[in-house]
Amino acid sequence: MLRVTEIFRSIQGESTHAGRPCTFVRLTGCPMRCVWCDSEYTFTGGEHFSIDAIMDQVNAFGCKLVEVTGGEPLAQKEAFKLVERLCDDGYEVLIETGGYVSTAGLDARAKVVLDIKCPASGEEPRNDWPNLERLRADKDEVKFVIADENDWLYAKRVIEEYDLENRTLAVLISPAWGLIDLQQLAAWIASSGLKVRMQLQLHKYIWGPEVKGV
Ligand code: SF4
Repeated sequence: MLRVTEIFRSIQGESTHAGRPCTFVRLTGCPMRCVWCDSEYTFTGGEHFSIDAIMDQVNAFGCKLVEVTGGEPLAQKEAFKLVERLCDDGYEVLIETGGYVSTAGLDARAKVVLDIKCPASGEEPRNDWPNLERLRADKDEVKFVIADENDWLYAKRVIEEYDLENRTLAVLISPAWGLIDLQQLAAWIASSGLKVRMQLQLHKYIWGPEVKGV
């Protein structure tokens, strides 16, 4: 059984898949506590679902793309089986993970969007660096949420040190909602010369930052 906060259909708001119809399976619980977290409502509660029951809802929504997210989806061991089942049933599967839990053992057909926590999150010491060695250039993406200039300088260092421009499909630079001037972040990115992609959380612009299940 898996503890699930919500299952819903929307459009993908982030990553290179932004704008695509997508079903989201949001699992409950996270061992991290990023100071700017926008998913605190997933930390507790939720309902227990079997994988079959999750599949029933996913099938009913009819989207080819499914994201397994959280909270931290990989904190529940059975999430690995859910991902395998989704892949077996022909779905294109994205995993949005906070970067603390190891991605070893994930079904190779799934695509990973791996957060690398920057200092202002308060969780940078918990990054699981071996996760970066498992990134695949043809399908995986990394995301840095930037709250200030120190975060941006940190992200640049990590991108260069781990050669992330060449070892991922995309390096996503995302502003921490409400904490950083978007034009300033855009200027840093534009002048960096790096092969990175600034991304805004599309769903927050469409429905507002507080609305859940979209
Ligand atoms: S890893 Fe994600 S869900 Fe967990 S505290 Fe950080 S932002 Fe929130």
